Amino acid sequence: MDKVLLHIEHLTKRYDKDTVALRDVSIDFKEGDFVVVIGPSGAGKSTLIRCINRMIDATDGKILFDGQEISGARGQKLRVLRSEIGMVFQNYNLVPDLNVYDNVVLPIELDGKRIDRKFVREIMELLQIGEKAEALPGMLSGGQQQRVAIARAVAAKPSIILADEPTGNLDTASGHDVMGLLKVA
Ligand code: ADP
Ligand code: MG
Repeated sequence: MDKVLLHIEHLTKRYDKDTVALRDVSIDFKEGDFVVVIGPSGAGKSTLIRCINRMIDATDGKILFDGQEISGARGQKLRVLRSEIGMVFQNYNLVPDLNVYDNVVLPIELDGKRIDRKFVREIMELLQIGEKAEALPGMLSGGQQQRVAIARAVAAKPSIILADEPTGNLDTASGHDVMGLLKVA
């Protein structure tokens, strides 16, 4: 059986007394899984991702990454766990003053890790942004910015990638492309 990478147990997130965004969610993500979480706007998809990455704290329940508790982790332990989790944000979160290449390698640099330049180049070619390495994010189309965000997540070689509506701002054809690229990554 494949190893469980991310284990979510009885997770509840209550923003206030009237807003329960997640109610008793339990799910296992195994190594190699490609999981799509669907639901209408307001269903709690972004909340789930934010809880996993600990941008927010869950109200109740447990999140284990590779057997280690993320919920409750702090300081260096949280930093290490976070470096195993690649994020593709809904609004891309690219740094406008840095060119595409520098955006892609930024998390690796912030982590103080060595940049595998050959690997980064390969990822950028695969995502068809190799020729845009020197461009600033503002000079790119939405779809290109989305691919830079994916390249950035993949380049740091995380164990898992969480993407929040990675095709949300794309047309159907580009959306299919992005899903295909995420599968390859
Ligand atoms: P989705 O990503 O599926 O559209 P969200 O996780 O963003 O859903 O939101 C789930 C619910 O939680 C919604 O009812 C939303 O209004 C509420 N919510 C999200 N973020 C906050 C917040 N920071 N404070 C209060 N309520 C929030
Ligand atoms: Mg959302």
